[in-house]
Amino acid sequence: RTPLVRVDGLVKHYPVRGGVFGRGGKRVHSVDGVSLEIERGEVLGLVGESGCGKSTLARALLGLTPVDSGRVMFDGTDVSRATGGRERKALRRSMQLVFQDPLSAFDPRMRLGVSLEAPLAQHRLGTREERGQRISKVLAQVGLDDSYAGRLPHECSGGQLQRAVIARALLLRPRFLVCDEPTSALDASNRAHILNLLVELKDRLGLTLLMISHDLRVVRHICDRVAVMYLGRVVEVAPRHRLFEHPAHPYTQALLASSLPDSPQTDGTVSTFSTLRGEPPSPLSPPSGCRFHTRCPKAQARCAAEAPAWSPAQSEQQHHVACHFPGP
Ligand code: SF4
Ligand code: MG
Repeated sequence: RTPLVRVDGLVKHYPVRGGVFGRGGKRVHSVDGVSLEIERGEVLGLVGESGCGKSTLARALLGLTPVDSGRVMFDGTDVSRATGGRERKALRRSMQLVFQDPLSAFDPRMRLGVSLEAPLAQHRLGTREERGQRISKVLAQVGLDDSYAGRLPHECSGGQLQRAVIARALLLRPRFLVCDEPTSALDASNRAHILNLLVELKDRLGLTLLMISHDLRVVRHICDRVAVMYLGRVVEVAPRHRLFEHPAHPYTQALLASSLPDSPQTDGTVSTFSTLRGEPPSPLSPPSGCRFHTRCPKAQARCAAEAPAWSPAQSEQQHHVACHFPGP
């Protein structure tokens, strides 16, 4: 059984021109050697502070940006090399992105129904009438009635618009949704509704989800596994309960302690760190060895000299960590 998505040694960097950082042709390594698998039907959470490369990884996964090395396989198709028109089109339908900002997701002058018809027209799907039916169907799936097709974006609340964003992602019957901070623009109650909706849709439509967030509270209840990213690298991957109850990487521990300060799961295990120390270093000149060593309370001389290898944590099969001194 192959995973639905398989990422091998992905590297994506951006050249930086001009400005003080530009001299000498510096490159920002946004994603620097990431390998990951996403199983069919699972919800994988991807967490890390902003700027750690989560969104770049998402765009590379979807084939929206060329990669420098490594590859992404989606159900046996190499995403970065799918050049044939039909292959690309099929991939584009199968993998959809749910944007983070519902307010900028739609053209403010267009009725939602018009915006929703565009992808169908682009893929030459159905007659006018069939497209209308498809739009009603996806609106119903996200809990909006037909009247929303006639509304302008400003006539909807943030939560309603985020539902419409999800409806648009569902139009082409995808199998894989990448949700990039899908609830960051919403208040707590809307956030819970949208997360529940995504999980319900996943079950009902047999989707696989990648849920990207800087906030562990978002991935806490709905993900099967969680991957933690720091400065372009994945530092820990574990089933959700393992990650929340037995985090092995000091960065994960610090992230848990700072985002869930009064969670019973983090009591005791990570009480030594109240918050993350300092700002993340610039990705323009990442620290040597383990990139977390400048902020890690457990750092030793070896950490600055040598990048830690990826290894099983506490001999748990599905729990992997990149740290010289993992554990509580
Ligand atoms: Fe901390 Fe060293 Fe582990 Fe990096 S390798 S997380 S610096 S203990
Ligand atoms: Mg982002």
